[in-house]
Amino acid sequence: MNGLKKYIPALIMFLFFEAVAVTLWLALDNLFYLFNFTYIGGFVAFGLCLYIKKYRNARLIIQLGVGLYMLVYLGLTHSENMQIEGFWYYLFSGVFEAAVIHYAVAKIFGPFFFGRGWCGYACWTAMILDLLPYKQPEGERKKLGFIRYLVFGLSLVFVGALFLLHIPELDRIMFWSFIIGNALYYAAGIILAAVFQDNRAFCKYICPVTVFLKPASYFSYLRIRVDEEVCVSCGKCRKVCPMNVDVMSNSRKRKNATECILCMKCVEQCPVKALKL
Ligand code: SF4
Ligand code: SF4
Ligand code: SF4
Repeated sequence: MNGLKKYIPALIMFLFFEAVAVTLWLALDNLFYLFNFTYIGGFVAFGLCLYIKKYRNARLIIQLGVGLYMLVYLGLTHSENMQIEGFWYYLFSGVFEAAVIHYAVAKIFGPFFFGRGWCGYACWTAMILDLLPYKQPEGERKKLGFIRYLVFGLSLVFVGALFLLHIPELDRIMFWSFIIGNALYYAAGIILAAVFQDNRAFCKYICPVTVFLKPASYFSYLRIRVDEEVCVSCGKCRKVCPMNVDVMSNSRKRKNATECILCMKCVEQCPVKALKL
């Protein structure tokens, strides 16, 4: 029985997604939501079990399982644009489905509970970027974070203009914008990673979704905490953090606090086990 106790976080995560699945299924009378969130919750819970069993690539497996499902199954085969343009599109159409629900759960309200867990375990852009070789960022962060707000504004103007100009066949345009948008994101992400020697440079400077993710992440229930009595100030956690979070402080205002993707690298590398979730 004691051996099973360690799997409780995985069970809690599965139940969280299952609660969302059942609520949306019943509220919207659509079985798809039961399937969708059960799949995602099941995969996340499975990956967490692998992590608990100390399987090294557990996080990448979750990321591939969820990311590929959203990119290939929902995006390519079911023409659901889950990028930010798709969110604006469904929102302006008054359709509380697809991308709007996805954004509400994963990127707007969910981060009050799991912070930027989306970025560490589910994003289909990061699932490719995390395979690149620049896992530990070199040097300080660049002051380029303002670009994300420009991209955010551009996405809003692009979709707003389609509506204002009464452009026909918006469904088709949204499908192609999903394909072209993703191709551009991958290209920009790979080039930036190589230039800055940092897999997550795209996340830090360009990704418009962070405009939604960051505010609620500030209040996130799940966050890495340091036991200051145990910490020996070796600095290893800061060095290995892909998002340059000042994890040696417990303050919510710590440097890059809203950037933590809960990847657990710092926890794994701490020599005295001073960090925990
Ligand atoms: S910052 Fe953007 S690209 Fe990076 S993991 Fe999060 S959602 Fe994906
Ligand atoms: S290394 Fe630690 S602080 Fe940095 S993103 Fe991962 S979990 Fe968060
Ligand atoms: S790795 Fe651990 S001991 Fe070293 S500074 Fe970070 S929290 Fe402290």
